[in-house]
Amino acid sequence: MLAEFPLRLVPGLAGRLAFYWRSQHWSAERLERHVDERLRLLIRRAARQVPYYRELFRQIGFDPESFRGRRDLPLIPLLDKETLRQRSMEFLADDIGRLDPVWERTSGSTGTPLRLLLSAECRVNDAAATLRSYAWAGFFPGRKVFTLRWYMRDWLFCATMAGRSLNADSMKLTRETARVLWAEINRLKPEVFHGQPFPLLMLATFAREAGLAYHCPSRVITFGESMPPSLRTRLSEAYGGAQVFDFYGMTENAALITQCRHGSLHALDDYACHEFVDERGAPVEQGRGEIVGTGYYNHAMPLIRYRTRDFATLSRERERCRCGSPFRVVQGIEGRMEDFVLTPDGRSINLFEEPIEVGTGIVASQYVQDAPDHLYVNILPGPDFAPATLGAVEEKLRQQVGPGMRLEFRVVDQLERRSATSAKIPFLISRIGNTIYRQDEV
Ligand SMILES: [Zn+2]
Repeated sequence: MLAEFPLRLVPGLAGRLAFYWRSQHWSAERLERHVDERLRLLIRRAARQVPYYRELFRQIGFDPESFRGRRDLPLIPLLDKETLRQRSMEFLADDIGRLDPVWERTSGSTGTPLRLLLSAECRVNDAAATLRSYAWAGFFPGRKVFTLRWYMRDWLFCATMAGRSLNADSMKLTRETARVLWAEINRLKPEVFHGQPFPLLMLATFAREAGLAYHCPSRVITFGESMPPSLRTRLSEAYGGAQVFDFYGMTENAALITQCRHGSLHALDDYACHEFVDERGAPVEQGRGEIVGTGYYNHAMPLIRYRTRDFATLSRERERCRCGSPFRVVQGIEGRMEDFVLTPDGRSINLFEEPIEVGTGIVASQYVQDAPDHLYVNILPGPDFAPATLGAVEEKLRQQVGPGMRLEFRVVDQLERRSATSAKIPFLISRIGNTIYRQDEV
């Protein structure tokens, strides 16, 4: 948790923290002015300094000088991951030498992940905005914290921040290693747990199964995997009713959606401009839309209208949250658009968690298509699991996949990873190649 933030950037952090502390109290109009100002700056700079955008704007006849702000964004085409991967060097600004940048790679990936050049300004803003969101979740630097995430390093756990921060690798979590970890956690007694939701749930489950006494934090901050409501409930229950805060961010620094102290997810438009679009790229005002982000601060490698392949659900009304912040409320983030199901009647569809929710006592679940006419559902059961309710799940699922698909339920004690070396546990896996990611990306 910010343990790797370089000391030389710390002086700049205080100023940005003060900014993000103020901007959460802005009016909606003040926030929109900021969005427009930052977008104008970003786009004009990209037009001058970045080969990809110089070429793109020339091709489409876009005049950056007449760009006014958010309302003009649709004049610029959406950017997909594939284009960024293939032409990544063209996204580097001519003046990167002045921006004190570092290379980072997208996390949780193997093979050839995306490599991103992040400016110092971008990293400082990322740290400051992250600290504000953590503060909403009740975490302040100096508090004791346990982090469980993929590290891909040669240790099971290590302590940092003078022993107040304990970090463990979720890829190495097993029934056996959980015992070692719990001994460390019980000794430290962190107030906050921080990590991928599913491994955190498994960590508690292993302790319960082994009859171990285990420490419960008051707060859990989750990131890295989509979290259906049932998983959130289970996670909170597993940790003695701890409050769970979801944190949606990305190495690309193109979007940041996190929960405030009242539990609402907010799209943080003071940090990045968030849009929500349908498959054709048209704006979505309610219902489900793909999250498209434009980060303001990475002038070293600007990404404008970046398609995240993640979905958000939006309410019909633009409600204002009790926290008083001007940020748009997002009802949920779900169904990461990684793979899709190809139905025997030739449709490509995404499956979400609604069918599963009619089942009782399901801790977590996962869809896997392993043949053109076969889809199975991995079910991780809780103590109150009621197999009889799977009939209702099947009925709901049948409405979506059609009559030609054979459906099967498998009660399991571990969900599947995409491959043995992959860190993420996707909600939907296609084993017949229906992925819009390249196989080497995840
Ligand atoms: Zn709020």
